[in-house]
Amino acid sequence: MGKVFVFNGRNHTIEYFPSIVWASTVLIRGRRNILIDPGGSLPSNLPEIHEIWITHAHPDHISMMDRFGKTPVFAHPEALNILRSKNPGGASTKRELDTCLEKLKGASGWRRILLMAIAHVLVRGFGLLFIRGGGGVENVHAFRDGEERYGIKIIFTPGHSPDGVSFIIEDMGIAITGDLITGRRNAPANLFTPSSNPIQALKSIERLIEEKIDIILPGHGRPIYNARERLKTALKLTVEEIECIKKSHPWKGYWSGFINIMKCIHGSRKIIARLSALVFYSGKAEDLL
Ligand SMILES: [Zn+2]
Repeated sequence: MGKVFVFNGRNHTIEYFPSIVWASTVLIRGRRNILIDPGGSLPSNLPEIHEIWITHAHPDHISMMDRFGKTPVFAHPEALNILRSKNPGGASTKRELDTCLEKLKGASGWRRILLMAIAHVLVRGFGLLFIRGGGGVENVHAFRDGEERYGIKIIFTPGHSPDGVSFIIEDMGIAITGDLITGRRNAPANLFTPSSNPIQALKSIERLIEEKIDIILPGHGRPIYNARERLKTALKLTVEEIECIKKSHPWKGYWSGFINIMKCIHGSRKIIARLSALVFYSGKAEDLL
């Protein structure tokens, strides 16, 4: 476990444990002790944990949630089946593959076969990364969008995945946003695991910009201290990417459409994100309109 970042507020103390390989874990101490995203190596000397909150059900954010006995786990309604399953990492990976296949219904011929192959390689590879999966949990509950628990505001922020949730501690100006954006200075929304949706991400980022946020604790990496500026940059770059792809009409062309998509994808995206983007944008055009 590396450096721990501690933030003290009137009603809460927040400890942020970044992990390079796995997801960051956050501990909120207050009237109730809440552990967010127990996915990587757990912090030592944890106090009694009253509730576990999940930002989204990707394997690296949930693999330790079964270590806390019957402690209730809260998540987005769309995450509940994954969290309850015997093998949540596998269920999460299957959701990624199913999403790809659904998107590819609009493609045909060799184009479809190639994209299917890419989707399989991507999703299986993505799943293999998380082979150290924990078990499922029974005591799971759905958050309601906009609800408040122990003075913390809970809003749904899908985009990186369909079940994204952010937690806002208003009096501290802190938001815990999972993987919606990365810590990178000049990057669009953190899209393209296969279940990512850029249109949803735009709406979620716009919603966060409306909130009074100074600091973002992301799902990976260090805290983001100029939160509003970073959100605005992510918004702008994501819009540019989508507009570029729309103009290139990738779904009308044949092979040239692939090249157009690759040209439009922001330079900060890694290869897995580029291939996921290829699958996403090559599918149904309606997804973008
Ligand atoms: Zn994720």
